[in-house]
Amino acid sequence: MSNDARYTPDEVEQRARDYWDSKRCFEVDEDPDKQKFYCLTMFPYPSGQLHMGHVRVFTISDVIARYQRMQGKHVLQPMGWDAFGMPAENAAIKRGVPPAEWTYKNIDYMRGQLKRLGYGYDWSREVTTCRPEYYRWEQWLFTRLFKKGLVYRKNSIVNWDPVDQTVLANEQVIDGRGWRSDALVERREIPQWFMKITAYADELLDNLDSMDGWPDSVKTMQRNWIGRSEGMELSFAVDGEAEPLTVFTTRPDTLMGVTYMAVAAEHPIAQKAAADNADIARFIEECKTMQAAEAAMETMEKKGMPLGVFATHPISGEKVPLWVANFVLMSYGTGAVMAVPGHDERDWEFASKHGLPIVQVVKPDDGSNIDIGAAAWTGRGVLVNSGEFDGLNFDQAFAAIAARFEAEGRGKRTVNYRLRDWGVSRQRYWGTPIPIIYCDDCGAVPVPENDLPVVLPEDVKVTGVGSPLRDMSEFVNVDCPECGKAARRETDTFDTFVESSWYFSRYASPDSKDAMLDKRESYWMPVDQYTGGIEHAILHLLYARFFQKLMRDEGLSAADEPFTNLLTQGMVLKDGAKMSKAKGNTVDPQELIERYGADTVRLFMMSTAPPELALEWSDDGVQGAHRFLKRFWHAVQAHSEAGRAPALDKSGLDAQQKELRLKTHQTIAKVSDDTGRRYKFNTAVAAVMELLNAINRFDDQSPAGRAVIQEALESCVLLLAPIVPHICHELWQQLGHSSALADESWPDVDESALQQDTVEIVVQVNGKLRGRISVAADAGKDAIAELALADENVKRFVADKTIRKTIVVPGRLVNVVV
Ligand SMILES: [Zn+2]
Repeated sequence: MSNDARYTPDEVEQRARDYWDSKRCFEVDEDPDKQKFYCLTMFPYPSGQLHMGHVRVFTISDVIARYQRMQGKHVLQPMGWDAFGMPAENAAIKRGVPPAEWTYKNIDYMRGQLKRLGYGYDWSREVTTCRPEYYRWEQWLFTRLFKKGLVYRKNSIVNWDPVDQTVLANEQVIDGRGWRSDALVERREIPQWFMKITAYADELLDNLDSMDGWPDSVKTMQRNWIGRSEGMELSFAVDGEAEPLTVFTTRPDTLMGVTYMAVAAEHPIAQKAAADNADIARFIEECKTMQAAEAAMETMEKKGMPLGVFATHPISGEKVPLWVANFVLMSYGTGAVMAVPGHDERDWEFASKHGLPIVQVVKPDDGSNIDIGAAAWTGRGVLVNSGEFDGLNFDQAFAAIAARFEAEGRGKRTVNYRLRDWGVSRQRYWGTPIPIIYCDDCGAVPVPENDLPVVLPEDVKVTGVGSPLRDMSEFVNVDCPECGKAARRETDTFDTFVESSWYFSRYASPDSKDAMLDKRESYWMPVDQYTGGIEHAILHLLYARFFQKLMRDEGLSAADEPFTNLLTQGMVLKDGAKMSKAKGNTVDPQELIERYGADTVRLFMMSTAPPELALEWSDDGVQGAHRFLKRFWHAVQAHSEAGRAPALDKSGLDAQQKELRLKTHQTIAKVSDDTGRRYKFNTAVAAVMELLNAINRFDDQSPAGRAVIQEALESCVLLLAPIVPHICHELWQQLGHSSALADESWPDVDESALQQDTVEIVVQVNGKLRGRISVAADAGKDAIAELALADENVKRFVADKTIRKTIVVPGRLVNVVV
């Protein structure tokens, strides 16, 4: 045995990496003569080390990138770091290390892990969002949007931790208390910056229809999130109020079923009532400690109190009581709703609890009976108990009520969106400073372009109470850019989703010093294949689409949409549950790589489940993947040690040799489809494993036999190259090539090899399998029938019985009926 005989992944993988590094294999420029392919994975947060979920998604993306490269495409696959965010602040509080230091250290370690896994990244384009040379451009864009009126400041309700003096994200509020301080969280109104994503609501919605490369599930989630609904704004006069109360409804047909109305705790009418009523004041105070999250609104207990104030029904003229309720949000619509308990589940639940009347005003089209006392009926049907509108269907009632209200100037048709403008202010330190200066005379003034970036001081002490920026006078105290008077700098930072909304474009011009994006952007964008977790279906993927449109309208890009094709990978499970530190069921990728090598980990990940489904971890599966690579390695060793195989002469092959060639080219055809079109890498691997088994069974050391084996082994190497690139890099050389595998093309199917001289046909007697015969591929029906009846076993079952019929399906079967 030669020195190469044993498979030592450490050495094999080091040699492959050294080659790729020395040749800068994965660094790409903009070459207009080549067809580009931009392959991207959602960039990671530098939490400390890679977890298995990372390894899975990065491997999927790397396989696609390497496959496209073998198709002759000019492939860009970059990597970077979504480096701002809370965990760095938490670590800083816990360990007393500045967030910047912690973050950069993690990046260095994780970059090493990614390199060890052999991902074909263009590291010359690495982007790190906490660097001023990156975030200066989002500050710049923000000041441009300020001038266009696409950003604005308004009061908004947040979860406020009174002890830590900070705003909490919804997930940091646990049972109404701050996750760190355990203090009762308050709903507090503070001024915050918003980006006007609603100005793009229609385009964000309409474009989804032509985004064929996205999963339907993600498109549906985005449609629901944008939530376009057609309805009406209706005004109700309120006793003692000069202004009417305006509500939005998508069901004007149920207007005659309104039995009460509800307003938010912060609504002026509720505030006014609270001034004379201590119970109402107490209830409003209680609402402040509830979470502001819309998701929480759905599940929490619906509470309310009557205000002792009445509105007048705009058609019947009846008095309708006004309530204050915890499920009405001031920030949503007008902060008031009309309630139709007969035909809305939430209104029904609330009315039942508080003894409010429930009236049926719609009945099913088919005349069937419903029991409004047992549950709300939310379907569309025909109006009843609605006076002049009785008998109308939904559309007719909508039109009639709209016409009447519009004529009287008391309402109008309108389109409503569930989508809210994006609040981007965070009262945190570790983020991009919002580039605004507040002047007593000039108000909020954007930082002039020449003064950008507003650099975040990195050498700080984070205590967890308030933001350290507020106490840094050298940061806060500045002169007003407009009048020169003493002014104060904004100390809030951007939501970290701002950084991740445009990083994909920055990879195209990562070192541009004069512009956010330069002309190289037009070569690479849009991203051809984007891969990431389904948990980003809404926020990240919607914000990124929004930013793409902002950048387009700023003249920075011609693309309407950032991602042509989207793949959302499944989770990595262990013992049926998602791997997580909390559950204690994690597997450390680093340990596995050190033990088995990167190729084994990559192969296990890709061979176990298709990318979009969950992957169940299995130690046996990892060992199985490793054993396969060893078999693969030894098969090539055994073949190459016997010397160079002669060139393949297709004309002089015997039946067995033809059969192996057939298997080889069938495998190429299947794996090409699985890898290139269907992204079913697991079945691709299974097909190559089968081919390798066929090679190992094939015992023909004649020159022609060895030529056929050579072709089969080369095919295995080429077909597995995207998945296990290190071992394939080395095996390619061992198969006698002086060229590098990284420069090879994907193998072609030889159609002539697929043409079979003989085919196997199943023979049945009375529908039961009794034999198999081999016949010439072009044999006629009579000849096939004759051969079938000559088969010994078939003869036995036919015996002396009379043959009534012989059915021949050429290429497939013969059925003898006796
Ligand atoms: Zn000023």
